[in-house]
Amino acid sequence: MAFFDHVVNIYTGYAKYLWGTISDPFRYDNYFYYLIYVSLAVWILELMLPWRKNQSKFRKDFWLDAFWMFFNFFIFNLIIYIALSSVTEEYFGKMMQAIGLPKKGLIDLSGLSLWIQFPIYFILADFVQWSVHVMLHRVPWLWKFHKVHHSVREMGFAAHLRYHFMETFVYKIALYIFMAWVLNFKLEYAFFMHAFTILVGHLNHANVGWDYGPLKYILNNPKMHIWHHAKHMPSTHPYGINFGITLSIWDYLFKTDHIPHSGRDIELGFEGIESYPEGFFELQIKPFKDKE
Ligand SMILES: [Zn+2]
Ligand SMILES: [Zn+2]
Repeated sequence: MAFFDHVVNIYTGYAKYLWGTISDPFRYDNYFYYLIYVSLAVWILELMLPWRKNQSKFRKDFWLDAFWMFFNFFIFNLIIYIALSSVTEEYFGKMMQAIGLPKKGLIDLSGLSLWIQFPIYFILADFVQWSVHVMLHRVPWLWKFHKVHHSVREMGFAAHLRYHFMETFVYKIALYIFMAWVLNFKLEYAFFMHAFTILVGHLNHANVGWDYGPLKYILNNPKMHIWHHAKHMPSTHPYGINFGITLSIWDYLFKTDHIPHSGRDIELGFEGIESYPEGFFELQIKPFKDKE
């Protein structure tokens, strides 16, 4: 019963939070409007400075991906994020306690100034997500779900948030356990980190030919991420290349970086994409039906 009450409380709190964000566009931690503003800004950038000049303004699957974006980000991501994180906080902590480990905060950074805490959180969170992304490519049953993201045939900013909802579970569980249990991270900080991740992620998928000059060794970028979506992988890296989320440093460090030439016009997808479904509902159920 306690578990049930806890979940009900979280969702009641979440419903209030949701209404608060929709009714107040100027709230500082307003994910909903932030997503709309950033999407419009990056789309305008694509229209003004297109990398593939003959790509349609409303590229293939533009509307489908716009729908994915809200489905994942607004409905699913936040609900799971908030509910899962509070539930995990409560029950994962208790589980750990039961086996004699601390309830949370294995490493305590709270004594440090926020200017030091923040970059540490950010860099470690990015590394956790990079590692999860590598697993999504290497573990066959995870790859079935991640293929949905790789089913983008023509690249544009909204492709960023086309991913199967199972990915949210995998990423958030890994991230939450690490950030909250290991680092005792305060959830209120998450907005700022997430906001930056969304901006860079939108740009990574945008139809703009940018790599930020020397900053490309630190920040993931469109010219690097398009190769992550290449249909054909190099024989040296059959599982994939350029796994970076926000930072590109992990790929350079672990030698998974690969940019052989301009990826502007390369073919995207994976082997067998020709017979992969394209509709929203088919994409949601496809990974559950797929055999190895
Ligand atoms: Zn991937
Ligand atoms: Zn991508």
